[in-house]
Amino acid sequence: MLNVPTLWTAFILNFLALGLIWAYILHSYPSFEAARFWTGSAFAAVLAGLLGVAATITGSLVPLVFGGTSAVLASCLLAMGVRRFYSEPLRWRLTGAIVAWAFAGLSAFVFGYSSSTARILVYSVALILPLALVLKLLLQKRDGRIDAGARLAGFTATVIVAISALRAASKLSQSGGDFTFLHFNAQQSVMVLALIFLTMVCNFGFLLMAMDRLRNEVADLALMDDLTGVANRRQLLQRLAEECARSERSNQPFALLVIDIDNFKTINDTHGHAAGDACLQHFTLMAQTRLRAGDLLARTGGDEFCIMLPASTVREAALIARRIVEVCRDDAAGCTGNEVPLSVSIGVAQWSREISAFPDRLIAAADHALYVAKKEGRDRYAVYEPAPPLAPTPASIRELSRRLA
Ligand code: GH3
Ligand code: MG
Repeated sequence: MLNVPTLWTAFILNFLALGLIWAYILHSYPSFEAARFWTGSAFAAVLAGLLGVAATITGSLVPLVFGGTSAVLASCLLAMGVRRFYSEPLRWRLTGAIVAWAFAGLSAFVFGYSSSTARILVYSVALILPLALVLKLLLQKRDGRIDAGARLAGFTATVIVAISALRAASKLSQSGGDFTFLHFNAQQSVMVLALIFLTMVCNFGFLLMAMDRLRNEVADLALMDDLTGVANRRQLLQRLAEECARSERSNQPFALLVIDIDNFKTINDTHGHAAGDACLQHFTLMAQTRLRAGDLLARTGGDEFCIMLPASTVREAALIARRIVEVCRDDAAGCTGNEVPLSVSIGVAQWSREISAFPDRLIAAADHALYVAKKEGRDRYAVYEPAPPLAPTPASIRELSRRLA
């Protein structure tokens, strides 16, 4: 049967490997804060294992007080990593209280009244509590689904909690035969081995969560304009295609604004490229104040922006275009010192059956209106007026026959 030193060795090697993996991830992605806690957790577990070995070699319970406390700290750090991952408050005070409880309890039942049952009970409660408190975070649905890594980590953490509780209960009732931290029986050895395996699987769940998060961040970056932080052309085209398809099904229109900053070359030439960049960022902030939830502002290139307005008619879109022109005018009127006044021209167009599922037709229509606004003197908006059909369309023929009937 597996002896205690073999189990401790497996324990130490397992957590050492996990600690090194997390440390490497932390080194590669310093802003991925959860990895900091999971690295700390793995190394605290290594320390617990080393102290366990020391206790086995010396036959003394003193290293076990520190080893047990260190294992509890590892469990707390693991849970804090989960909290950090989901941007929840870290609860340092709770961690302090649980670690202090473990240290005080283990010390009391080693140096004061020596009781292996009380020690295992104190230790198990402190180990289980932080994990139990984050199970809900791991297992709750986000955007209607639980991600695979979180499900794996949540499931294994639940089993770890259950096994630890069973172990404490069996010690209390003496049903699993007698064992202490220094002398495991066969049943306890299997349980410890299972715990080692499960903590490894749980950490793989965290690794999957991390990969999923990092992949989503990269996907988001690919859809974002890095100067202004708003959507880029790619994201706009994706959303326009979706919106065109939706309008085709529902026949409900939506609208598009194409915005171009007036005489931007002159701003660049007079104030420098950096001031030009600041203007683009400033305009983004101003425009966003005039949008509703669900509207999409995108920078489509240079000094050109687009705003997609779902479920909007051309009249509503024209109202928003007017507000944007006005907010720029008001801002320019209040400019002092080094501040650069800017104005914009806007073309407004609405989705129609002719545009169908082709976003580029809608962009071309709004571009056409923008051209008119520029031609009419800039600092204004213009609405795209579709030319009346020259040849009869199926719809107009149907209408005519209806009238003649
Ligand atoms: P108009 O009123 O007709 O739009 O005149 P304009 O001078 O604004 O002409 P246009 O829109 O063609 O000029 C776009 C300029 O934007 C040209 C380019 O130098 C500048 N530009 C493109 N990208 C950037 C950028 O990222 N930062 C800065 N500062 N300037 C940029
Ligand atoms: Mg321009």
